[in-house]
Amino acid sequence: MKIYEATWSEVAEHLKRVDIAILPMGSIEQHSLHLPLSTDSYDAEWVAERVYERLREPKPLLLPPLHYGMSLHHMAFPGTVSLRPETLEAVVYDICVSLVHHGVRKIVVINGHGGNRAAVSNAAAKVKWRTNALVVWVDDAGRDARMKLVETPGDIHAGEYETSTSLANRPGAVRAERIKKPNLKPYSDALAFDSVAGFHFRTDEVTDTGAIGDPTRADPEKGKALWEATIEDIVRVVESLRDVEVDIVWREW
Ligand SMILES: [Zn+2]
Repeated sequence: MKIYEATWSEVAEHLKRVDIAILPMGSIEQHSLHLPLSTDSYDAEWVAERVYERLREPKPLLLPPLHYGMSLHHMAFPGTVSLRPETLEAVVYDICVSLVHHGVRKIVVINGHGGNRAAVSNAAAKVKWRTNALVVWVDDAGRDARMKLVETPGDIHAGEYETSTSLANRPGAVRAERIKKPNLKPYSDALAFDSVAGFHFRTDEVTDTGAIGDPTRADPEKGKALWEATIEDIVRVVESLRDVEVDIVWREW
């Protein structure tokens, strides 16, 4: 059931049959010279719709996407709109607690933007403590296919991967004539984008176009295969949650 198309009484009836909700999340942030700011949000919603179509009945509750994310690292590029990490954490927490209040016990966040991960994880920890509900986030679906198909090392933003997936699901939005390999200057070998170390960076410190990766290697066929693997992975995660029993236990802090 798509929550935004239902009435409250329809939601009440539906929640007697299914206790899973799906929340797509993205960002409004620069995606180099050739992809729109909405890439992550569009993709999260697009993939959530495809996942939803393939899920068994009774379908989980599908929420509208959260368009804004944590994109502070991209703020040097005009158009980027960022929530602070604590704001995003609070928004995700409030959405989840609202759902649990109505009878949802398991929530799957389809996260289209890596920068949201820490806030979602923190919110999930707090929801678990406060309600005992399970919040699962998926932002690495299709990983096996990506390792096999994407040739550019450290291709994390608006590069080979994301340009391929955009060519596959929204070709009209890709400014093909502006696809350009960026000049990258990672901080050091140990802080390269495929490093074992984690760190925060400002995108404009490390790339001239905003891309981190190589969009000139993008290919729509690759994008189609990456989407298919992503959708399959997420469907498997959601279906596997149906039989997970979660007892809601409300705790004061
Ligand atoms: Zn993106």
